[in-house]
Amino acid sequence: NRRFLLARRPHGVPVPADFALVEAPVPTPPPGGLVVRNHYCSLDPAQRGWMDDAPSYMPPIALGDPVRATTVGVVHASDNPEFRPGDWVMGLNGIEDYSVCAPGGFTMKVDVTQVASPSLFLSAMGAVGLTGYFGLLEVAKPQPGEVLLVSGAAGAVGSAVGQIGKIVGCRTIGIAGGPDKCRRLLTDYGFDVAIDYKGKSVTELAAEIRAAAPGGVNIVFENVGGTVMDAEMLNLAKHARIVLCGLISEYNLAEKYGLRNLWPILTQQATLYGYLIMDYAPRFAEAGAVMAQWMAEGRLRIDEDVQEGLENAYEAFMRLFTGANTGKLVLKIA
Ligand code: NDP
Repeated sequence: NRRFLLARRPHGVPVPADFALVEAPVPTPPPGGLVVRNHYCSLDPAQRGWMDDAPSYMPPIALGDPVRATTVGVVHASDNPEFRPGDWVMGLNGIEDYSVCAPGGFTMKVDVTQVASPSLFLSAMGAVGLTGYFGLLEVAKPQPGEVLLVSGAAGAVGSAVGQIGKIVGCRTIGIAGGPDKCRRLLTDYGFDVAIDYKGKSVTELAAEIRAAAPGGVNIVFENVGGTVMDAEMLNLAKHARIVLCGLISEYNLAEKYGLRNLWPILTQQATLYGYLIMDYAPRFAEAGAVMAQWMAEGRLRIDEDVQEGLENAYEAFMRLFTGANTGKLVLKIA
């Protein structure tokens, strides 16, 4: 049982010495619990936050514990009559070959016979694809004809948000890093406008957004924060809704940038929503079925960036912060 442990808390950008790969015996199930053989581990920006000893929506990963991750795998041993060895499950576990799932934790069965790859339960039908689904449809409540601005638009969450926005009739503007990703926003994810944020000041980026949406933006789906968000705030329409989903530009900063352009939130009577996907966990199956239907109809494209090998967990994880990942980043370990 190989385990990818958090050895010490990263200071700023994580370095290899913050982690340790160790061997341990295969565990046995606790009373009422399970042991799962993980096949795919989700690599998420949120994991960086869980590595800090800072107040959050979840306790920090304890030093010496495996890096917490949503995984998809097969029940290896069970002391719970609802789960049998061989069942495929998704749950909140760790980057390790075998995870112990205690009773009361988040573990759900998944039907892998209906999908091209079990990893889809970490992307399209998993928390990340559904982050876009619920954040846009339930929090922002888009109306046809509204202008939707998405940052981190070529990423796992952002690309889903943009496409769902088109499905419900929005005009979509995506912000991403570099010409390749901007091209993909238009060709692969159907954005109406693509804006490259790299190397641009707040003023320059704000002017590009204004050119794309002269009447202002009705919905901002925020994945990035920092200067990108500051530029967006200068382009709010009256009563704009801002879904604060993530702030990836800040996760590796010891000194946070924050938000400087708060004033337009007041003058445009905008609403800023703090949003967490786990509130919607009871509705994952329902929303996953809708996502699967859209994919089958060719209306929704979900890309995965599958990296291989538990021993490559650090290099794979860092792809999120260099922008190397092309789609939902997943680590295949079995
Ligand atoms: P992505 O697939 O979007 O990958 C991360 C992307 O972020 C990179 O590819 C890169 O794209 C961009 N990025 C990295 N560093 C910076 C930076 N300094 N400035 C601007 N962009 C940067 O990841 P996810 O789709 O998994 O996550 C996207 C966001 O959603 C994150 O903020 C995450 O924390 C959040 N999230 C929130 C959830 C919730 O419940 N609220 C649940 C799941 C995710 P580029 O090349 O364009 O720079």
